[in-house]
Amino acid sequence: MKWKQQLFDMKAYKPGKPIDEVKKEFGLDEVVKLASNENPFGSSPRVKAFLQSDKSNHAIYPDGYAQNLRTDLANFYGVAENELILGNGSDDLIAIITRALLYPGVNTVMADLSFSQYWHNAEIEGAEVRKIPMKEGVHDLDAMLEAIDDQTSVVWVCNPNNPTGTLVSDEALSAFLAKVPSDVFVVLDEAYIEYVNDPSYKDTLHYFRDYNNLILLRTFSKAYGLASFRVGYGIAQAEVIAKLDPVRAPFNNTILSQKVAQIALADQDFIASCREQNEKGKKQYEAFCEKHGLKYFPSQTNFVMFEIKADSEVVFKELMKRGFIIRSGAALGLDGYIRVTIGTDAQNAKFLQQLEEVLTEQGVFA
Ligand SMILES: *Cc1c(COP(=O)(O)O)cnc(C)c1O
Repeated sequence: MKWKQQLFDMKAYKPGKPIDEVKKEFGLDEVVKLASNENPFGSSPRVKAFLQSDKSNHAIYPDGYAQNLRTDLANFYGVAENELILGNGSDDLIAIITRALLYPGVNTVMADLSFSQYWHNAEIEGAEVRKIPMKEGVHDLDAMLEAIDDQTSVVWVCNPNNPTGTLVSDEALSAFLAKVPSDVFVVLDEAYIEYVNDPSYKDTLHYFRDYNNLILLRTFSKAYGLASFRVGYGIAQAEVIAKLDPVRAPFNNTILSQKVAQIALADQDFIASCREQNEKGKKQYEAFCEKHGLKYFPSQTNFVMFEIKADSEVVFKELMKRGFIIRSGAALGLDGYIRVTIGTDAQNAKFLQQLEEVLTEQGVFA
C-alpha cells in the first residue's frame, strides 16, 4: 500500500498508564494518577448535577457549530463568535492547524522540551521539525526566531509550557511576536492559563487582535476538569478561523460535551478555588525539593517537573508499585527528572512520603 513513508518510523502517543491497569498489575486497591495534569478536584459540582438529570436526545447529531457554547465563550472573552473555533480537545485543533499549514517542503519551529503533539502531527504531514533547546526550561524565543526561515510555516509557543510548567515573560513574548515574519503562523498553546499566578503575568488575549498570524489555544481538559469530554477552543481573527474551519470534522464536539462546557465555564468560583488549592499543593512540592536540594522548574501550572538525581524510569516504576502514576522525565525528554501533577493535599503528602522512600532506596538521600 501507499502509506506515507514517515508512518514507518512513528509510534502512537503513549499516554499515562490507566488506573485500572496499574491496580491489576500490582494488586493495588488504590491508585492515584498524577500523570496527565487532570484536575484532582474533578469539575464543577453543577456538571455532575446536570449529568444526572440530562435528557438530551443522543440519537441526533450535535450542533456542529456549537452555537450555545460558542455564544458563551464569545461573551466570556468579549470576542466575536466568528473569532472562535471549537475542537475535540485542543489536540484536535493542533491536528487541524498542522493539516492546514504543514506539508513536505515547509518546516515548523518549537521548543525541544514541549508538548509532543506538535512534532507528532508535523511528522505525519511530512514537514521538517526544528526543535530549539530551551533555556533553563523556558522557551528561548530569540533562538526560535533565528531558526525561522523562508520555509517556516508554524511556530509553537506552549505558555505555560508542558512539561516544564514555565512561563515566558510578556516582554519576551511581545518582542518575539513583533519580529516573527507575518507569513509565519504562531500558535500560543495556553492549556494551563487558568493556573497562572505570576504577578508579572499580563493577559495575552489582545495578541490575537494585534496579529492576523496568531491563534490562542485553550481547553476545558485541565482546570475545568472535563478531560474526558474533549473540548478545546482557539481564538483568532475571523479570517484565520475561516481558513481552519473547513479542515475541522463536522461534528467534533458531542451534545453532552458542549453542554457541560457551558456549565463549567459559568462556574468561575470553582476555577478560583482550584487555583487556590493548586497553589498550596505547589508549595508542598517546592518545599520537598528545597529540603532535599533538588532542582525544580518554577511552575505556573498544576504540575511540577523536578530533579530526582536518579534514573527516572526506575523511579517511575517504583512509584507505580506504590500506587502512584506519574510521568518519567526520560519519556518526556529530560532524564533524571519527573513530572508530577499537583493533587489534593492528602495525595501530595502521601506521594511525597512515598517518593522520599523511593529516593532513599535509590541511594539519593544519605
Ligand atoms: C493537555 C494539553 C493539551 C491537550 O488538551 P486537550 O484539550 O485535552 O486535547 C494541549 N496542549 C497542552 C500543552 C497540554 O498540556
